[in-house]
Amino acid sequence: MAGEGNDSINVVNTLFLVLTPIAAIAGLWYHITQFGVTWVEPVLFVIWYFACGLSITVGYHRLFSHRSHEASWPLRLFYALFGAGAFENSAFNWCADHRLHHRHTDTPEDPYSASRGFWWSHILWVMIDEGGERIHDLDQVKDLQEDPILRFQHKFYLLLAVGVGMFLPALIGGLISGVPGAVGGFVWAGLARTVFTHHGTFLINSAAHIWGTQPYGDANSSKDSPILAFLTFGEGYHNFHHTFQADYRNGHRWYHFDPSKWWIKAFALIGLKQSLKSTPDWHIEDKRRQASFENAASKANADDSEDLTRLQERMKAARSNFKSQSRALDKLLAERRAVRKERQAARRQELEDAIAKLRDDIATIRAEFAQIMSDLTAFKPTAA
Ligand SMILES: [Zn+2]
Ligand SMILES: [Zn+2]
Repeated sequence: MAGEGNDSINVVNTLFLVLTPIAAIAGLWYHITQFGVTWVEPVLFVIWYFACGLSITVGYHRLFSHRSHEASWPLRLFYALFGAGAFENSAFNWCADHRLHHRHTDTPEDPYSASRGFWWSHILWVMIDEGGERIHDLDQVKDLQEDPILRFQHKFYLLLAVGVGMFLPALIGGLISGVPGAVGGFVWAGLARTVFTHHGTFLINSAAHIWGTQPYGDANSSKDSPILAFLTFGEGYHNFHHTFQADYRNGHRWYHFDPSKWWIKAFALIGLKQSLKSTPDWHIEDKRRQASFENAASKANADDSEDLTRLQERMKAARSNFKSQSRALDKLLAERRAVRKERQAARRQELEDAIAKLRDDIATIRAEFAQIMSDLTAFKPTAA
């Protein structure tokens, strides 16, 4: 986003990012030595860490930036308040940057392009104004500007950030245990928590574009990392996320550690969220197979490029069959659910047979996938 003029340091952002860790350490030292720690401070820390963290990962990210589901107004208000308390800018500004990040990943138009190195994508992009000014392209978030809650948050961002992120935990701490609790709430749930929330988010822009695997392709630098998912409310499955942006999950399997997904799912069960978007399993499988084929093909030492071309054609045919049969299966499964409700026994038997047949076909295609991969690795293609 380089404009005219020279780059300059964003004084407010830089001071904030440098001073919060220093103030947090000094504050913790002061609080612990002056008052000692009771149950109040760690509890406030954990509550604020989750409230602000999830407001970023579920609210700012999966809901506002990607519209992966719908949420009713009490939840949107919660995300707006505690998202402000994360001190990561208003939802408009955050989402505008994030949508550009997805649209132009790794290019100069990506505000936190990982191709500019760890420190740029981690924190320097917040501290340096390219071309001497900070631009949040609000044209990216015209849809969000319809939401009065988010307009309100944008207008009073600073007040809300300080109020919810710093003052509120101090107030609650004070109400529970007087001055020690007030200082503790401010230092633990305000200052120290802000530092943790910041660097958790920042790691997604830096580490999740550097370390990990790329099961869904290397079209951009995004990586999957279960360790990072553990530190970031599930956002570490970043290669999956860049591949299937609209999916409300980042860790798509039930055992993937993704508290943001569980949060969304839990509120869906009690009716406060709806229209959860998720990618069909076969679509994910297709992408993963395609990526591992391309990865192996790029490593295969093809003496005979005709052999490789033949394998590529087999792969293309297998994928196309796999997709059409999987789509057909989805349709039949949906019909079976409808028929079950209407208790049509005859039609139901027909459906069961057709479903079994499709499942056989798909198993055969999977065997062909496996054969293609082993031919590719051995590079002794069989006759087509
Ligand atoms: Zn995203
Ligand atoms: Zn990314």
